[in-house]
Amino acid sequence: EHWAAAVEAVRSTGADDEIQLICHVNPDGDALGSMLGFGLGLRRLGFTRVRATFPGDFVVPEPYRLLPGSDLLEPEAFSEPRLVIVFDVASESRLGALASRVAAAPASVVLDHHASNTGFGGVRLVDPHAAATSVVAEGLLSRLKVPLDAEIAECFYVALATDTGSFKFDMTTVSVHELAARLIATGIRPGEISRRIFDSRPFGAMKLTGEVIGRAVLDESAAGGRGMVWTYATLADLERHGQPPYVLDSLIDPVRSVAEADVSVVVKQVATGEWSVSLRSKGAVDVSGVAVAQGGGGHRLAAGFTGYGEAADVVATVRRLLDEHLN
Ligand code: 5GP
Ligand code: MN
Ligand code: MN
Repeated sequence: EHWAAAVEAVRSTGADDEIQLICHVNPDGDALGSMLGFGLGLRRLGFTRVRATFPGDFVVPEPYRLLPGSDLLEPEAFSEPRLVIVFDVASESRLGALASRVAAAPASVVLDHHASNTGFGGVRLVDPHAAATSVVAEGLLSRLKVPLDAEIAECFYVALATDTGSFKFDMTTVSVHELAARLIATGIRPGEISRRIFDSRPFGAMKLTGEVIGRAVLDESAAGGRGMVWTYATLADLERHGQPPYVLDSLIDPVRSVAEADVSVVVKQVATGEWSVSLRSKGAVDVSGVAVAQGGGGHRLAAGFTGYGEAADVVATVRRLLDEHLN
């Protein structure tokens, strides 16, 4: 019945009404891919006034700048849109100043897949079993009778590939591969897309990653003896290597590959005394519980929050909370 309400919210919007799309702060491949793919779908339906934005610094990570539908991106949101559609956002805090736009809109639809979703917004399409928000977005487009084309498919494929860790995480189900097959059938080239998204990093990003990995610490007694590996990166590190903050978003991947640790933690400086914390688990710990306890959110095996103080104190807090959230 949520699907019907979401379809109705779109169908009752006029072709010339303003539709504002919003994804989360510091957008990743799923946030941007699901939003732009859906935006293209709205365009195919004849909607002429569609804008896409996100809160905070309006920096689109380099790998996503060539996504189809990028011309929908417009930093300034409509002030009084008829319909607001939100993508990949677990809580209003991830919407920053744009949260009030959702609350004030005559109609709003939230498309998401976070188990920690707080239930904000009008119509809520939140499926914690979906591997990516793009799975939900594709479900709604198909109910709106918008056929997949190569542009929409590229956006959704990028979203799916990034959120499933290139089709290797637990959420990679039969239906995920079936959706991927339907996307690829539109003619998109997975090899080219993967090279662009994952294998086009500046040399400085590799050097920075090397340095930050070089200072990683293995704490084998943490998480009830399942082990935790952690590292941190400062704004000074970014500056020294001339890199923007988003190059650290994939740093958690090599860190989480360590066999001796079930839990991995990357603490990234955002400002003086403020850190963006990425948490991953291989199963022993529900890291979304740890993140939620610190005002953040996410999934059972991948979550995050904003921490304050010194990096070492943030890690000490995580270490303490892990023992409380052992499965
Ligand atoms: P990442 O570590 O890749 O930034 O985020 C992992 C997961 O945790 C994502 O699903 C993301 O939505 C969630 N997450 C990361 N940081 C935060 C945060 O500060 N607040 C909330 N609510 N969720 C977060
Ligand atoms: Mn996301
Ligand atoms: Mn997502």
